[in-house]
Amino acid sequence: MNLDFTIEPMSAWAPQSDLPLLIAGPCSAESEEQVLETARLIEKDHRAMVYRAGLWKPRTRPGTFEGVGYKGLAWLQKVKENTRLLTATEVARGEHVKLAIDAGVDILWIGARTTVNPFSVQEIADALRGHDVPVLVKNPINPDLQLWIGALERINQAGITKLAAIHRGFSPVSGSKYRNDPVWKLPIELKRLIPELPVICDPSHIGGARDLIEPIGQKAFDLQMAGLMIETHVNPEVALSDAKQQVTPARLTGILDEIVWRHAEAANKEFAHGLESLRGEIDELDSQLIDVLAARMNLVDEIAELKKRNDVTILQVSRYQEMLENRLQRAAQKGMSPEFIKLIFEQIHQNSIKRQEHIMNAAKV
Ligand code: PEP
Ligand code: MN
Repeated sequence: MNLDFTIEPMSAWAPQSDLPLLIAGPCSAESEEQVLETARLIEKDHRAMVYRAGLWKPRTRPGTFEGVGYKGLAWLQKVKENTRLLTATEVARGEHVKLAIDAGVDILWIGARTTVNPFSVQEIADALRGHDVPVLVKNPINPDLQLWIGALERINQAGITKLAAIHRGFSPVSGSKYRNDPVWKLPIELKRLIPELPVICDPSHIGGARDLIEPIGQKAFDLQMAGLMIETHVNPEVALSDAKQQVTPARLTGILDEIVWRHAEAANKEFAHGLESLRGEIDELDSQLIDVLAARMNLVDEIAELKKRNDVTILQVSRYQEMLENRLQRAAQKGMSPEFIKLIFEQIHQNSIKRQEHIMNAAKV
């Protein structure tokens, strides 16, 4: 893949700090009071550098709050006048870009639902041409790295060199504990392909729930993400959008206190980065491993119920033998040690017998 990016370091547009760039603010600007009060409280935490607030809201269903629109620009101007925070808002059309730049918004971001559409991204890129404003590009809602890179390219080719990506997770197929699955290997691959591109994490839209923000933020920081965007609202309970995932400014401070800000610097940077990335992937695979084992045990329970109804014994030696042989063959194809795989499957089988016995015995009256 031929990737030709010109990207300035984040220090060219973000305030200097020992910590990653911390962006906080409400999902949506709702009223002047809510915008100013939230900003005033966020500013008290010296670690927060940028104030976010959505003015034009891409909502999944019509009939919900779709943002206050351009009139919120004056509120963001007041945030700049009254606090040390930079301001940021989402743009989805060329017209938004023009209005936001004219109003002096410091940083623009492109939302996940816009990144998926090259026509929209190109319209934004065309409106950005000739301006020198930092732009953050959220990942598309589907886990398509090429589409994400394509959007970054369109913005970069319009002359925007103050560029960063935001990882906000990907629409889950079903049954995820996350609102948007954090497919960490994608931002990691993005960082590998475009090393000079800062990648920020948005744990609020990944988690979709307040209590998931700290662990996701920790993980993002451990994977050396360049910043965090955390939705923060003076009164999250009554927020007009994303109420479940927004935190109060006090909780924002709590989250920032709880996160262990490990030193990213190491004698050998490439080693440190590689190690963190690989560990991140291992964590991800391990959690998938546990999910798969849990799903397997659920099937075992179903089998036990079936056997119970039909008065069939738990252990059928021939089936166990056949299963083991088949797994060992597959393991050999993958270059895995047969002893190791045998050991694992013996453990799995033992556990599955234990569960079946439990179900069978429970059936006895
Ligand atoms: C937002 O930041 O409020 C937003 C709409 O996010 P996303 O584009 O990630 O859904
Ligand atoms: Mn939101």
